[in-house]
Formats: sequence, C-alpha cells, structure tokens
Amino acid sequence: MERNIIIVDDDVQTSQLIQVMLQVLGCESTVFNHPKDFLQHTLEAGDVVLLDLVMPEIDGIEVLRTLAKTNCPAKLILLSGYDKAVLHSAEELGRAHDLNVVASLRKPIQMRDLQRVLISGRRLLVCEQTKTSRLPQFTKTQFEFALRNQQIELHYQPQVDLSNGLLVGVEALARWNHPDYGLLMPAQFITLAEQSDLIIPFTAEVVRLAIDQSQRWNAKGFCPRMSLNISADNITSLALPEQLSEMLASKEMSGMNLMLEVTESTLMGELLTSLDTLTRLRMKGFGLSIDDFGTGYSSLSQLHRVPFNELKIDQSFVQTMERDADSRAIVKTCIRLGHELGMEVVAEGVENEAILSILSDFKCDIAQGFLFGKAMPADELHQWAENGKSAALISRHCVA
Ligand code: C2E
Ligand code: MG
Ligand code: MG
Repeated sequence: MERNIIIVDDDVQTSQLIQVMLQVLGCESTVFNHPKDFLQHTLEAGDVVLLDLVMPEIDGIEVLRTLAKTNCPAKLILLSGYDKAVLHSAEELGRAHDLNVVASLRKPIQMRDLQRVLISGRRLLVCEQTKTSRLPQFTKTQFEFALRNQQIELHYQPQVDLSNGLLVGVEALARWNHPDYGLLMPAQFITLAEQSDLIIPFTAEVVRLAIDQSQRWNAKGFCPRMSLNISADNITSLALPEQLSEMLASKEMSGMNLMLEVTESTLMGELLTSLDTLTRLRMKGFGLSIDDFGTGYSSLSQLHRVPFNELKIDQSFVQTMERDADSRAIVKTCIRLGHELGMEVVAEGVENEAILSILSDFKCDIAQGFLFGKAMPADELHQWAENGKSAALISRHCVA
C-alpha cells in the first residue's frame, strides 16, 4: 500500500502493535505518542490519521477541535476502548466540524477491521481525487446553459415489491450529460442548483422529463409508479401543487402515479409553509415519501404531522445491517414505525442477497438497490422490467 499513515496514541505498546499490523498490510506509518507533537505536524490531503480519543494531555476530542481550525485535509479514523455509542458521537462531532472522519475502530483493534476501514478510506480517497482532479467547479451560468440546452437526463432505478418480486415503481435520478465531461452525477450539480435560484427551473425540467417518459412507457402498456426528488425550495414554494397538476393536465396525464420524495432535513426549514404545500400535494393525489429516513433531524411528531405515505430508510443503515446489530435494530424499528403510521416502507441501498433476506424477515415492503439494478436509461429499465430476474431473486429469499 502506498500511503503514509499517522498513528496518534499515547499508549506506546498499542501504537507499536498498530504499526506492526499496518506493516503486514503493506503500509508505512509514523507514530506520535504526544498529541502536541502531532499538532505541530503539517498534514496533507491524502494522509490518513488513526487518532486515539483517550489521551492524558490533550484528548482526541480536543485534537479534533484543533484540526478543524486548521482546515485539516486528512482522512481521520477514530480509535477508542469506549463502546460504539461514544465512537459514533465522536464521529458525528468530527463531521459537524467539517472534518473528514471516515470511520472509527474499537480497541483492541483487530487486523480485519483495520484492513476494512483502510480499504474503504482509500476508496473514498481515490474517488475524491478523480472527482476533483478531473472536474472543474461548475458555475451557475454553465448549469443554466445545460438546462436550456436539454443536457439534463433522467435515469431510472427499479423498486421491487418484496412480496412478489414485481416492479412497483422507479425512482427518477437526474444526470447532467455534459458535452466535455460525460455523464455527471447529482453530487456534482444538485448543490449548485440548490444554492442558486436554479433549483426551481431544474425541478420543472425533471418533472417535464418524467411526465414525457411516463407517456412513452404508457403507450407501450408499461406503467410503473414514478418517484421524483424534490428540494427544500420547491416545498417552500406554495405554487408547487398547482404547477404540478397543471403540467400533468396539459399532457393529459392527470392520473399519473407520482411519488414525491423529500428528505428529512427539508422539513427543518419553514415548517408552516412546507406543511401547507405538502398537505395540498397529498390532497391533489400525489404520493409523499420521506427520503433518507434516519439521517435527518425530524422529530416523531413532525413525521406524524406531515401526511407521508411512504418511508425510505437511509441506505447507510441498510448497507451495514448485515454486520452491524445497531443498524439492524434501526432498520427493524423504522419498518415497524412506518407500518404503525400507515406508511409503506422502502429500503434503499440493497446490495446483496443477505440484506434482502433480513429485510424480508422484517416485513419490509419495497427494496431498491444495486442488487436489483442501478439507475439506468429508460429503454434499459423497460428491458430490465421484462426480464423477470427480480422475481427469481425474491422467490429465493422472501418466501412468505
Ligand atoms: P436519493 O434520492 O437518496 O437517491 C438514491 C441514491 O442512492 C442514488 O444516487 C442511487 O443511485 C443510489 N443508490 C441506490 N441504490 C444503491 C445501492 O444499492 N448502493 C449504493 N451505493 N447506492 C445506491 P444518485 O443518483 O447519485 O443520487 C444522489 C442524490 O441526489 C439522490 O439521493 C437525491 O437526493 C439527489 N437527486 C437525484 N436526482 C435528483 C433530482 O432530480 N432532484 C433533486 N432535488 N435531487 C436529486
Ligand atoms: Mg430519493
Ligand atoms: Mg435516499
């Protein structure tokens, strides 16, 4: 392995042990037994720091605070003998400081855990490097041009009914087909759209594309439900329900089965306006889904107040539920909660058959993830729906 890894731990024996493990994994490492010495060291992008939380002079939390002030570019992996809850809070704290905390490890450290976090940390690193070195920072004018020149496309990801393996719906996910850089993912442009006033025309374009595609599919007798992602500014615009109804009516698609996905954090803004818009959307017959559930800050009473009919459990819990008992408990509880509140529950990020089996045991309604298919162009999605592979997967794992 190519990178230098920095170990910050007051315990000499522990740091030596970690150093030996890293050697076995092919990594060079540098040890600091005094956090003060470590804080004198200049960190570079690409450095990986294994930071102990409990040290006598300056503890790891203080080190995190100091690193935040220096805009630390390194990847951080936290270490501690405390239980997972403490490590998890420390990770959250680091991220709240805008630090790049990639993982945490419980002491005594196991070789396989160290290897796992280093591999995922490195993958993050590679992704970021290719992202930043290849792509420029796009401007509002460039995105405006893209919108005007039909460079925005939708790809569709299947959502599968766990009771029979049939396609229930598709989630439309935006892509920017850039003439020089190829297909760009939402992470590369949604924030730009949201931070400028372009999110309103962008969402209008997404709705237009989705309606047109539905019309083309319907003509072939293919009518999956369509889920669209809606941003906070769309929700605080009181005109949204009428605009959507009018767009559908003008294309004679008033009966289209449309589900609007909003994230939990969207609801933190102007709750009264959001509530007004969301309630009228439901009254006009649109479905409402709460996306990335579990990662935001909505209180349970908020969940009850807004008329959602679908709950999408965030993929961070779904992807880890196979090996992490806490994630499993969260997923199970979210499914119960959704059902008790009369909602259908979707699990996002279903990547393997073991996860599928657990979701089926937990009586989850719908699954979406790479196991079934990635977001794909419209024609591919239609072919996917016809090949029936998802039904075979479900019959193997989800027998009632
Ligand atoms: P989201 O709405 O939570 O969409 C799910 C994201 O997870 C998609 O990423 C999807 O490709 C990815 N995903 C699905 N299954 C798996 C899996 O099994 N494993 C993994 N690793 N990932 C999976 P994508 O397309 O990059 O979209 C990211 C986010 O961008 C979306 O998250 C949504 O918040 C936002 N977005 C996408 N299209 C739109 C849009 O038209 N409008 C708005 N406002 N936001 C959009
Ligand atoms: Mg979504
Ligand atoms: Mg999501």
